[in-house]
Amino acid sequence: MANTIQEIYDFLHVIAPFQYQEGYDNAGLIVGDPQSRCTGVITCLDSTEEVIDEAIEKGANLVVAHHPIVFRGLKRFNGANYVEKAIIKAIKNDVAILAIHTNLDNVITNGVNERIANRIGLEAITPIVIKNEIDQSKGAVGSGVIGELPTSINETDFLHALKEKMNVSVLKHTQLLEQKVSKVAVCGGVGGFLLKDAIRAGAQVFVTSDYKYHEFFDANGKIVIVDIGHYESEQFTINLLQELISRKFSTFAAHCTEINTNPVNYL
Ligand SMILES: [Zn+2]
Repeated sequence: MANTIQEIYDFLHVIAPFQYQEGYDNAGLIVGDPQSRCTGVITCLDSTEEVIDEAIEKGANLVVAHHPIVFRGLKRFNGANYVEKAIIKAIKNDVAILAIHTNLDNVITNGVNERIANRIGLEAITPIVIKNEIDQSKGAVGSGVIGELPTSINETDFLHALKEKMNVSVLKHTQLLEQKVSKVAVCGGVGGFLLKDAIRAGAQVFVTSDYKYHEFFDANGKIVIVDIGHYESEQFTINLLQELISRKFSTFAAHCTEINTNPVNYL
């Protein structure tokens, strides 16, 4: 029996309840009829027009994205920018768009940050900031994660290993502190708001992204801030979503997008 898009929504709601999203967020079913039968899924970070095209080519009528392509209210739909283009393409071709964003950031089990921590090899992870206001949560819920490396290593070795494990060609970091690294804080995407808490929790390194020049000074000799890039920090969320959906449903195929939607290029 075919599964409806509503059933996929309900499953993702169990993994990362949509009420766990931040107030500014717009996670949920952004485009599409929840009662239509799912013919296939493409998972991605950004549901751009190219990803919608990919879904059409593969016969998939649902795109599950980490970032909601629509954040603010839209007043016109004439294809003037990439958001409108993607939405128009999706509606015309009966492709639904579902975003699972800060709710997936805020759950630890099967969340964005657990996936990063696993790749780096962190053990005994806990949220950097536990969200007490979220009641009746089954697993730990909160922002970022902090964990321990199995053995402490020097900072340069850690940074080289990080580049390899997160598949990045370049990273930015603040001054090294000539100490061993054993405790590491992680936050996929924008993480600067967690810096003070990461320091307080005793992390020697904070791996995140989207740091601005002046914000790097906030390391203040207390921690090494490492900016690995926003797309790069969250890229394995694409696989996470594909794996979760594939394991649960057998009436359609779920594919990771083959399109690199990173708007940032390096030379
Ligand atoms: Zn992000």
